[in-house]
Amino acid sequence: MKQHHFQVVITDCDHGSIQEEQEELDRIGVHLILAQVQEEKDLIRVSREADGLLNQYALLTRKVLENLPRCKVISRYGVGVDSVDLKAATDLGIVVANVPDYCMDEVANQTIAMLLTLIRKTAFFNQKVKSGRWDFHLGTPIYRTKGKTLGLIGCGKIGLEVAKKISGFGVEVIAFDPYLQKVEGKVELTDFDTVLKKSDFISIHCPLNESTRHLIGRKELQKMEKRPLIINTSRGPIIDETALIEALREGRISGAGLDVLEKEPPDPENPLLKMDNVILSPHVGFYSEESISELKRRTAKNVSDILMGRWPSSVVNHEVKGKTRVPLSE
Ligand code: NAD
Repeated sequence: MKQHHFQVVITDCDHGSIQEEQEELDRIGVHLILAQVQEEKDLIRVSREADGLLNQYALLTRKVLENLPRCKVISRYGVGVDSVDLKAATDLGIVVANVPDYCMDEVANQTIAMLLTLIRKTAFFNQKVKSGRWDFHLGTPIYRTKGKTLGLIGCGKIGLEVAKKISGFGVEVIAFDPYLQKVEGKVELTDFDTVLKKSDFISIHCPLNESTRHLIGRKELQKMEKRPLIINTSRGPIIDETALIEALREGRISGAGLDVLEKEPPDPENPLLKMDNVILSPHVGFYSEESISELKRRTAKNVSDILMGRWPSSVVNHEVKGKTRVPLSE
């Protein structure tokens, strides 16, 4: 029988196969268990002997963590770690790791796909032609991209990727990001109002938090002088949807491409669903076969790194340094 040195538990996940995780952890002799549990008592029961956890949504509370005497690492599928009580993990010497950058290319492509779809009105024309109307006049006016300005709100990993990719279309990129002093490439950092005022297209790439909730509201929409197209592939509540609907109805905004909404899925009577100049997708930005495969592999790699005594590439609770349950080298 195969000798297992470690036990690792996947508390829960919403993907079918765990082949990538298995392959990654097989290398270091891990017995991998897919538990699919959510309740506190079940989490404790399945993870009691675990050396490490892979986690998606199940809440790892202080009580759960206090009952996992062998656990050295929790690795979260994806970016957000709100499912884990970080303070408790740090107190107990458990490293919490995540995978922050597995889908930059996908989200940037989703952003540009939505932008070009709105600019060239491809989704609109597709509908018209299929319903028997062969007439490009139905979609006028259309403008060229060259010389237009794209304003980014947030210029981190994804915003920067969008900026790089769009440069081939002759679009100038300006960005508002209060936490950056400079940005690589041809992006001009500027203030929030200038982005609102000068942009022909606006794309949102900041995180959702208390200071960005409804960052784009009625007042901000009124400052947009160029009747811009707005793209949001970040998080729905960053835009006040009621104010956006009003601005779209009044023609102050030319159109919107939204991969994320305030309420997902939207209510069937959400007016955005009926607007010709609005295109929607079901929070799909992160997804490609390759990105998911990379996510699974890297989530498992975080665990194997710790069990082999190395810091993983992305640790969330840096304060745990010096009190981890296993000695770790950089
Ligand atoms: P990132 O952390 O690399 O970049 C975010 C940037 O936003 C940072 O540079 C930060 O300084 C800036 N920022 C913070 N507060 C701001 C504010 N008030 N105004 C303007 N900028 C602000 O993150 P990322 O990898 O580029 O991801 C951006 C967002 O995309 C994530 O927060 C996430 O919500 C979203 N996302 C969506 C999908 C999807 O499937 N649609 C997938 C992945 C990520």
